[in-house]
Formats: sequence, C-alpha cells, structure tokens
Amino acid sequence: MTKTIEKKAIDFCNKNKHRYTKPRKNVLRVIANSEKPLKAYEVLKKLARVLNNPKPPTIYRAIEFWQSHNFIHRIQSLNAYSACKADHFHKGSQFMICNVCGKVIESHMCELPSAIKENVEEKTFMPLNWNLEVNGICNQCI
Ligand SMILES: [Zn+2]
Ligand SMILES: [Zn+2]
Repeated sequence: MTKTIEKKAIDFCNKNKHRYTKPRKNVLRVIANSEKPLKAYEVLKKLARVLNNPKPPTIYRAIEFWQSHNFIHRIQSLNAYSACKADHFHKGSQFMICNVCGKVIESHMCELPSAIKENVEEKTFMPLNWNLEVNGICNQCI
C-alpha cells in the first residue's frame, strides 16, 4: 500500500516536474503508514524522529502539497489527514468515521448526488471539490 502510493507520487512528480523532496517523501510516507488520520502536529512529531529537526513550515507545506494534488485528504471534522486510497484522481470524497475507534473509511463520490447536481446546473455554479463526512460505528466496534 505504502509502496504503491510512493510509486504513484514519484511518477506524478516526474511527470509534472515537481520535486520529490525529502520532506515531501517523508510526510507522504508517515500519513500513508498510519491507520488513523493524523493531525499536522502529529506528522511533525513522527518526522522529528526521522528528519533532523524538521521545520514546521516545511512540513506543513509538504502536507499542503499532497493535499492539493489529491494524494491525501483533510478530514475536516477531525482536522487530520489521511492518504487517499483511490487509484484515480478525484474531486469529491466522502469519509465514514468510526466514533469508537477513530478509523476512517474512504469512499468516493466522483459525481455529486443528483439532487445537488440539478440545483448546481440551474444556478450555473461550478463545484470544484466537496467533502462529506459521516459519523457512525464500524463493523469491528459494533
Ligand atoms: Zn481519495
Ligand atoms: Zn471502529
């Protein structure tokens, strides 16, 4: 899983002439290896062990970089990040968050629900991205 996302990230950087810097690489690795979404300061804390005194702005910029390119998503209600599990780039995402163990399951909404879509077309508004978060209990915690 981590291998796959790293390979995807390297290909992406090569193709788009982005630099696959050490902080970027480590940020992606830490988030992809975590079972639960990580807050920015938790990423920083984990990286303090790997990198020699990482500067917070560098780490936060690396997080932003991956987020803006859809490799990681921000879970708004938790203010935390998790790696994208999809093999395609997508605009919308939806998360099911377990209230008991904190696990986040990602599913994809590549299209807006028709009720919203019709409204959007009528009002000539172009949606660029969206987030839907559903809280509940996962099958391991029921
Ligand atoms: Zn995703
Ligand atoms: Zn659970």
